Amino acid sequence: MSENVPILQKAAVYSKIADPIEICDIPVPELSSTDVLVKILYSGLGKIDMDIWAGNFPIEPEVPRVGGHCGVGVVVQVGADVSHFKPGDRAGIKLINDACLCCEFCKRGSEAHCESATTTGLGINGTWQQYFVIKYSEVVRIPESLQIQKAVPILSDGVTAYRALKESNVKPGQIIAITSAGSPLGRMGIQYAKAMGMRVIAIDSGNANSQICKDLGATIYIDTNETTDLVQSVINATDGGPNGVLCIDTTGDSIELATMYVRTRGMVVLLTLPKDTQLTADVFWTVFRGVTIKGSFYGNRQDGDEALDFAARGIIDVQVETLPMEFLPKLCDQMSNAEITRRIVIDNWK
Ligand SMILES: [Zn+2]
Repeated sequence: MSENVPILQKAAVYSKIADPIEICDIPVPELSSTDVLVKILYSGLGKIDMDIWAGNFPIEPEVPRVGGHCGVGVVVQVGADVSHFKPGDRAGIKLINDACLCCEFCKRGSEAHCESATTTGLGINGTWQQYFVIKYSEVVRIPESLQIQKAVPILSDGVTAYRALKESNVKPGQIIAITSAGSPLGRMGIQYAKAMGMRVIAIDSGNANSQICKDLGATIYIDTNETTDLVQSVINATDGGPNGVLCIDTTGDSIELATMYVRTRGMVVLLTLPKDTQLTADVFWTVFRGVTIKGSFYGNRQDGDEALDFAARGIIDVQVETLPMEFLPKLCDQMSNAEITRRIVIDNWK
């Protein structure tokens, strides 16, 4: 049984880079024999959507473009050659799709680096539409025990943070530092790091962030406004430096500082995509102390399943505010002016 699918659907579209986002009717995409048609119930809204829309990345989307980098919903149709999914199954759409599964990087589990992989909302139309066609092998199963809209941020910041923590090589009992720890991505990082057995040192500014980070499980909080020597403060608080750093704050010299306070033989992981940002580090000390500086871009399909499983078991929780798709034009204006820091999930049917 598959439900009747309309010819037209509601979508949030921009016609040119940085043009206003408009709600309009577009055709429901057609599926091939290996595709699944997902009725998207809830969709993500994050900084990455704003960066793609504003043309902040070296790669720009073709326009007109439907935005939205991830979403969740229910399978409504499957192609003739699809046996892994059936109508009614819960389905998630990740940031990365269409990996070939045959190249060197796919074979190694680095599907995000596959040359044929596309980024949802950038290389292909995104999830700010009511129906989405996706290759069956890319569909994420959403656990039944998880409130479905909570899966949206897990498929976005959750997978990003979880993969970056794996890339950090920090072991259970060792220390991870997280910069901009009070940000939505930072909060996710604290929870996953704690769940993975790491000790978390949160770095951010302000008392509100201190409380948030400690409530989520950070054992130490360093307020950047309260110290004149961040490097020494972090080294002192961690008895020699953290074993790894998730660099969410990529402004100014924060990455360079991370290379200085990370423990000898430690790892500095960069996981955000800032515009026109250059990295500087002292080469002598980086080499002498055996420090690694590493980029981490999203995760693979297994990372998606694992990240969701933590949430399904109640180890990771995230508060979301659900707002109708009709609000997207105004929300995007507010977000591009950094007026929104809470986590919003879009209801694609309101
Ligand atoms: Zn590939």
